[in-house]
Amino acid sequence: MTDFAIRTFELSKSYGGRRALDRLDLDVRRGEVFGLLGHNGAGKTTTVSLLTTLLAPTGGDAEIVGRSVARRADVVRRSIGYLPENVRFYDDLTVLENLRFFARLSGLRRPDPRIAEVLELVDFTGHDREKVGTFSKGMRQRVGIAQAILHQPEVLFLDEPTSGLDPVGVRSLRDLIVRLNAELGMTVFMNTHLLSEVTKTCTSIGILRQGRLVHHDTLDATLRRFPGEESLEEIYFRLDAAVAS
Ligand code: ATP
Repeated sequence: MTDFAIRTFELSKSYGGRRALDRLDLDVRRGEVFGLLGHNGAGKTTTVSLLTTLLAPTGGDAEIVGRSVARRADVVRRSIGYLPENVRFYDDLTVLENLRFFARLSGLRRPDPRIAEVLELVDFTGHDREKVGTFSKGMRQRVGIAQAILHQPEVLFLDEPTSGLDPVGVRSLRDLIVRLNAELGMTVFMNTHLLSEVTKTCTSIGILRQGRLVHHDTLDATLRRFPGEESLEEIYFRLDAAVAS
């Protein structure tokens, strides 16, 4: 069994003639919580879309728990869960009805016991008969995570999971991500703008700049490299300035 949840090999994506991701080489070990940082347009969503097989690479390849996204997309889909930035549900259906629908798509034979299990995991027991359309963004994110982990994926991808949440929602989602990682050993890969989130959640980080990976290390090693800096935000700007000059 491979030690790596994710490996990319010169993974590239061009839209028309424009390169959005340029020969990305990145390893994420099993059990890590990896945070991908970068300015708007740096290529973060493109990276997640390639790793979740929503987009096909125009160059290179990536492996999710040892399986190629280019050649074995169907098998890769079974090993991953994905929470997009704006998760979509059937708003007129209840949580239970929505999750039954997604469970059927995943081929789960006895969905209800598993649905009860995931709702407990995301602290949402008791809301299963409520319509999703009545929920706040934070509650929808929780149902989104429940849906993403229904089929017990090994790797969970989150695209800007805390965007648009209030401070209470941010904290509660952060706690959930940490718990899924600690209790289920799930590898987590997330895109984020919020540097404070990364410090509280991630074990390793990568920084993309104009489609290129300009930094990749554990969070501890990154913070040790800049002992004088108070925050990851300062480090982020220093790294960015170093590459820009
Ligand atoms: P943000 O933080 O704003 O979400 P990002 O880091 O996720 O940005 P991407 O959405 O991956 O960045 O975009 C990377 C580059 O590719 C940008 O220049 C963007 O304009 C371009 N791009 C993304 N999707 C497409 C598309 N479907 N067609 C053409 N260009 C695209």
